[in-house]
Amino acid sequence: MRYMKPEEIDWNNLKFGYTRTPVNVRCYCRDGQWGEIEEHAEETVTMHMAATALHYGQTAFEGLKAFRCPDGKVRVFRMDENARRMQSSAEYLRMGVPSVELFCEMVTRVVTLNKEYIPPYESGGSLYIRPVIVGSGPQLGVKPAGETLLLMFVSPVGPYYSGGMKGISAIIDRTHDRAAPFGTGHTKAGGNYGASLTSALEGHEKGYDSVLYLDPAQHRYIDECGAANFFGIRVDAAEEGGRAHYITPASHSILPSITNKSLRQIAADFGMEVEARQVELDELNTFSEAGCCGTAAVITPVSTIFDPADGKTYRFGEGVGLWSKKLYDELVAIQHGEVEDRHGWNTVLDL
Ligand SMILES: *Cc1c(COP(=O)(O)O)cnc(C)c1O
Repeated sequence: MRYMKPEEIDWNNLKFGYTRTPVNVRCYCRDGQWGEIEEHAEETVTMHMAATALHYGQTAFEGLKAFRCPDGKVRVFRMDENARRMQSSAEYLRMGVPSVELFCEMVTRVVTLNKEYIPPYESGGSLYIRPVIVGSGPQLGVKPAGETLLLMFVSPVGPYYSGGMKGISAIIDRTHDRAAPFGTGHTKAGGNYGASLTSALEGHEKGYDSVLYLDPAQHRYIDECGAANFFGIRVDAAEEGGRAHYITPASHSILPSITNKSLRQIAADFGMEVEARQVELDELNTFSEAGCCGTAAVITPVSTIFDPADGKTYRFGEGVGLWSKKLYDELVAIQHGEVEDRHGWNTVLDL
């Protein structure tokens, strides 16, 4: 597959998909020692056919973005958080664990080497960075690989919302769980995503945009919405002070989203009450807004949630709610350096 020259890319019509860029970076850990960062042009990886990634699912990934900003600089959002989350995935899956410094150096290198592929600010796009970590060494028994490969590639992606923020429909999945109660849900292990495909596709076949997962132990509390975290907004009655609450589920099987963590901080900055705790399904009745959040879309408003158990549909309005929009606008403004980066989230690159 040849790659497009930057001037051939139609920046205003990019989707969230793979576009080849000239360089990816790789680093191997052998016998507990990380080697030099390598730069590669090819899109393929050669590894042993008995690599543990291939048959035992020793693989995890990350996703983060770099933005071309109105001041001409490039900003990478919270890459140290992605580094730490990849560390926790790699630790749990017994792979080589990259240091935060190595992870961040590789992110900086792959963004710098592909800087012509960062979409212009005006297009609303960004450069999506995909770190992947795999057990690349051979093993026949179920044991960790002796070699770990950390690789990172990038792809320019379009804005998630081109025609305004539309709400999605979700169906509660009561026949599949995303992760086990004390399983791998808190990590970005590849297996979680292979295991969610049937659930997602069955949801689509039934006519829903996404599926809502409940806690796998009791199916009583809300866990996640597809591969994104879930939140709801509740506003107290005026006579009780009219305070807005940002409420998001807490559970061992939820992947700790960095977008959600950032939104919780921004909500607190706005003076909202932030609650991260178990959220019963019934509580959906008290939310005026609902949404899912993650790097790809920041916030996707949820318009309806259908529960096949009792045929009930919870409704949260068609488009984006007031508070969701405020939170979205503030996070995006921080990412683009348009308001003060008061929590030190951005790495600013002069590219
Ligand atoms: C990656 C992911 C998210 C979102 O995490 P961010 O750090 O905000 O991108 C949420 N849930 C699941 C299951 C994920 O894999």
